[in-house]
Amino acid sequence: MVEEILSYKCNCGGILKKSHTNVEFFGIDFGIKECEVCTKCDSEYLSDEVLDEIEQEVKKKKLFGLEKQAQITKSGNSLVVRIPPEIVKFSGIRYKDLVRIYPIGKKKIELEIESD
Ligand SMILES: [Zn+2]
Repeated sequence: MVEEILSYKCNCGGILKKSHTNVEFFGIDFGIKECEVCTKCDSEYLSDEVLDEIEQEVKKKKLFGLEKQAQITKSGNSLVVRIPPEIVKFSGIRYKDLVRIYPIGKKKIELEIESD
């Protein structure tokens, strides 16, 4: 099997190569999809095509009824995203919860709530 090394790199500086991953969002199983995986930090990046497909499916399930626009604000050297109350309620996220933040595409950042 020939590994296809991609010309662009991960944010960590690691090399990306084509791989496959089981994609699941909002509890919906999308099955095995093509992705790019970093050989250094194991970050997985989905193609815009796969992200579009996920978006279509999620729209069908009306989860995007919760979608809100938010403006980025600033606090010191960090940027701050305010989470609208509807999404706070839906996700159960609370003040001071720990979250993991990672890019899942050039224009998408996922936030995963760690504490429960
Ligand atoms: Zn990386």
